[in-house]
Amino acid sequence: MPVLDEQLIPVFDEVVSRNPGETEFHQAVREVLESLGPVVAKHPEYADGEVIRRLCEPERQIIFRVPWVDDAGRVQLNRGFRVEFNSALGPYKGGLRFHPTVYLGIVKFLGFEQIFKNSLTGMPIGGGKGGSDFDPKGRSDAEVMRFCQSFMTELYRHIGEYTDVPAGDIGVGGREIGYLFGQYKRITNVYESGVLTGKGLTWGGSLVRTEATGYGTVFFVNEMLSTGGDSFDGKRAVVSGSGNVAIYAIEKVHQLGGRVIACSDSDGYVVEESGIDLDLLKEVKEERRGRLADYAQRRGSSACYSANGSIWSVPCDIALPCATQNELNGTDAKQLVANGCQIVAEGANMPATPEAIDVLRASGVRFAPGKAANAGGVATSALEMQQNASRDSWTFEYTEERLEKIMRSIHRRCLETADEYGATGDYVVGANIAGFTQVADAMLALGII
Ligand code: NDP
Repeated sequence: MPVLDEQLIPVFDEVVSRNPGETEFHQAVREVLESLGPVVAKHPEYADGEVIRRLCEPERQIIFRVPWVDDAGRVQLNRGFRVEFNSALGPYKGGLRFHPTVYLGIVKFLGFEQIFKNSLTGMPIGGGKGGSDFDPKGRSDAEVMRFCQSFMTELYRHIGEYTDVPAGDIGVGGREIGYLFGQYKRITNVYESGVLTGKGLTWGGSLVRTEATGYGTVFFVNEMLSTGGDSFDGKRAVVSGSGNVAIYAIEKVHQLGGRVIACSDSDGYVVEESGIDLDLLKEVKEERRGRLADYAQRRGSSACYSANGSIWSVPCDIALPCATQNELNGTDAKQLVANGCQIVAEGANMPATPEAIDVLRASGVRFAPGKAANAGGVATSALEMQQNASRDSWTFEYTEERLEKIMRSIHRRCLETADEYGATGDYVVGANIAGFTQVADAMLALGII
């Protein structure tokens, strides 16, 4: 494990002691701090202003009760969260996650990552994240609507176009954003499109937002490939997950001439040597909210479904973890290396464990961290905000072009910054330092607040 700079050890110790049991948050902070040694050496002003300590403490953390009534008339109870982490660059911006594993530590890790990711996009957005331990799986549309309405009945007082702008994440897609926006509009009596992103196209949404995170991740990998004089042509890729990010990552890999031969959900994974059938995958997962096992059954003998084992044992040139945090561990990373994988790029947030990242970097596999590789989603959310502010809507082609340009610029900033700090080619160092310095400079300029 990389060592922490001496000046940063007390900062990390303080994060652990002030946030007990929040292991994912500790992991996310440590990963950033490990890159910052050369920065504090070069910029003593960051230490003087206690910028890093202040950055690790959210500006505001909101926890609230979410009662709702299920279809059988029983009262159900969930917990809601919104962590408004940092607003030095703009209003808090980051998604809402509805999943039974959500607790404060998950929301804080995601919010912390979001600060640097949003900074890397070069757009005027701060970092935040929220969610609930509500599990939408198996719930009717009416139950999801009642839950979303109850959730927004508390959340509305904390958010706004210039304050905090939530979006989707795991378990929160177009349906949930619709119910949330409807309740916000009803309570406030204002048609404030810019308060949420990921909206439907007929009520303030942006073309390409649905595709943006997956497409953006693949655009980033395309830059990694072309930097080495290579392309997606004929490449075998494995994509974990089969949700929003995974589906559109698969689509873009196919458009660029690669072949995705495996994807997964939380029950298992499917391998299909001729390439995943995207139309069927969309029908099963997006339209019917079904399981990957149904997909495999519909594909018959051309697909091989496994309920056990790891998707990372499937040999590939490029691996794109697009499901959830800590889904690719040290053993998986060794398997990828042994199978000749050349690039791992995180479509999900923090899917690779620290051990996995160590193995990949030590073996010369090029590794792109989520805060750079999956920033296309939030960048396109910011484009949605721009369209809302100017009451305009852009074409698919124009918006996709903007997304591609942003991903190219993030890629370039990562490499230039890594170079500047003596870590040529290291995307982790480049992303962390480039994301950090912009926020840190703004915090210094704004004074001790
Ligand atoms: P979705 O809910 O659309 O899909 C999530 C996928 O991951 C599903 O296939 C799901 O399987 C699987 N999954 C979720 N939790 C687990 C788990 N504990 N173990 C195994 N598999 C799991 O979410 P998204 O595609 O939107 O998000 C995926 C990742 O991308 C997350 O890390 C998210 O934070 C990140 N991300 C998303 C962005 C966006 O714009 N949506 C932006 C940037 C990052 P199952 O159906 O079985 O639950």
